[in-house]
Amino acid sequence: MTRKGISMQDDFKLMQYKTPVVQIPNDDNDIYIKRDDLIPFSFGGNKVRIALEFISDMKKQGKDCIVGYGNARSNLSRALANLCYQFKIPCHIISPADEDGTRIDTYNSKMVLACNAEFHYCKKTNVKETIEQVLKELRDKGLKPYYIYGDSAGKGNEHTPLRAYVKVYEDIKGQFDYIFLATGTGMTQGGLLAGKAIHGGTEKIVGISVARNSIQETAVLKNSLECFSTRIQKIDCGEINVEDAYLCDGYGTYNRQIEKTIHQQLICNGMPLDPTYTGKAFWGMQEYIKKNKILGKKVLFIHTGGTPLFFDYMNGIRLLEAPSKEAVEEAVIRLENRLVPSLTDRKINISQYSEKLAHYGKVWTHYDMGKPVSIIAGYFNDETTRTAYLSMLAVAEEYQGKRLASSLLSEFEDYAIKSGMNYVKLEVRKHNFVAQKLYNKFGYKIIGDASDTSYYMQKTLENLSGGGH
Ligand SMILES: *Cc1c(COP(=O)(O)O)cnc(C)c1O
Repeated sequence: MTRKGISMQDDFKLMQYKTPVVQIPNDDNDIYIKRDDLIPFSFGGNKVRIALEFISDMKKQGKDCIVGYGNARSNLSRALANLCYQFKIPCHIISPADEDGTRIDTYNSKMVLACNAEFHYCKKTNVKETIEQVLKELRDKGLKPYYIYGDSAGKGNEHTPLRAYVKVYEDIKGQFDYIFLATGTGMTQGGLLAGKAIHGGTEKIVGISVARNSIQETAVLKNSLECFSTRIQKIDCGEINVEDAYLCDGYGTYNRQIEKTIHQQLICNGMPLDPTYTGKAFWGMQEYIKKNKILGKKVLFIHTGGTPLFFDYMNGIRLLEAPSKEAVEEAVIRLENRLVPSLTDRKINISQYSEKLAHYGKVWTHYDMGKPVSIIAGYFNDETTRTAYLSMLAVAEEYQGKRLASSLLSEFEDYAIKSGMNYVKLEVRKHNFVAQKLYNKFGYKIIGDASDTSYYMQKTLENLSGGGH
C-alpha cells in the first residue's frame, strides 16, 4: 500500500512551527516559557526543528537517504526517524552501544523502532569507521546518503542545524532581557546566538550546560558560529554564555533539587520537565537568577522538549544512597510508621536516630518522582565481630509488591560483603511474620531472643573467604 499525502514542499511550510509563550507565576521576575515541547509533531522539542533542517538540506543537495548518529534513546533519533517515515525517506541511525552491552528500551527507542529506522550499532572507539562503512553500503545500493554531521569526523555541516533556532530567534527577538535554555551539543544555543548576531539583539542568552564544561562548550559554539557566518555574512560571535555550575556529575546525572524542580513545575504549572535536559536547565536558571540577584527582568526559558524522557523518569524508581542528614530524616519520617512497632511508638527521637544513621551508618532509599518510598539503614563498623547491623527496613504501603524490600536487602548485603563483614544481624518482632518470611527467604535464621517480644535473626554472608560458588 502506498501512502499519499501532501507534497514535501507544503509539509515544510506547515512545519514552520510557532509555539506558545506562556507566563508562569514568579515574584522576582516576569518569567515566560516558550513551549517548544508542544510542537505538534512526534512529541515536539528542539530536535523536531533541527531534524527538519537536516531533511530540508538533504533535499536541497539532491540526496535521498538520511544517516544520523546518536543514542537510540535520544530525542534527535526519534524526531529524525519519525520525520523520515512521514516523508518516505530511508533512515539509518548509527548508535554507540552502551558500555555494558545491555540495551535499555525507552519511549524514544521504541518510537524509533516503530518508525522502521535501521540501527547500526558501533563501539565509541569505532564511530568513524562505522559511518564510512554504512555510507559505502548505501552508495553501493545506489542510494545517495546524507550524513547529518558532514564528514565521517563530524565536520562540515555545523551551519545547517543552527538555522532552526535562527528562525526561532526571529520570532522572539527584542522581547526579553534574558533567554535561558538547556545546552547539549550547542545546536540550539548556536542558532539563537547566530540570530542575535544577525539582528543585533541585546538579550543575554544563557545556556545551562547539561553535558560539557563551559570551556569545551564555548569552543564548540565558537566553531559552529564561525562555520555559520562564512555562509551568511560575517557575524560577531557575541558573548557566548555557557553556565556549567549545574552539571551535577555530567550528562544524564541529576540531584534531589532537580527532582524537586520537576515535581514542582509539574504540579504548579502543569509543565513536564525531564532530569537530563529541561529539568536540569530550569533548576540551573532558578539558581543562576538567585546567585546573580536578577530582579524585575523579562526572562524567557525555552522548553526544548524531551517529553518521552519525562515519561521514562515517571516510570522509574531509583535507588540512592541517602547523602545528607536531611534526606535520611525525610525518609525516616515518611516511612517509620511502616515499622512494627513504629519508632514513634517506641518513643525514639527521630531526629537523633536519623542523625546517628547519617553520621555512623549507611542508608539507601528508593525515590519516585523525588519522594522517598523505601528505606534500608544500618551499621557496618563492628570490625571485631565483623557483623553488620540492620537497623531499619521499610517500604511505603502503595509500593508493596514491587520487590523493593528484596532489592534493598540485596544492596545492603552487597555493601556488607564489600566492607568485609561476615554476618548481618537484625531484630524482628515475634509476631511480625511478614518480615520473618522475607528474612527467611534471604537465609536469615533466628539465633535467640532479643527480648520477650522479639528475636535476633542472623545471616552468614558468602563472601570471598567462603570460596565462591
Ligand atoms: C538535545 C536537547 C537539548 C540540547 O540541545 P542542543 O542543541 O543539543 O544543545 C535540550 N533539550 C532537549 C529536550 C534535547 O533533546
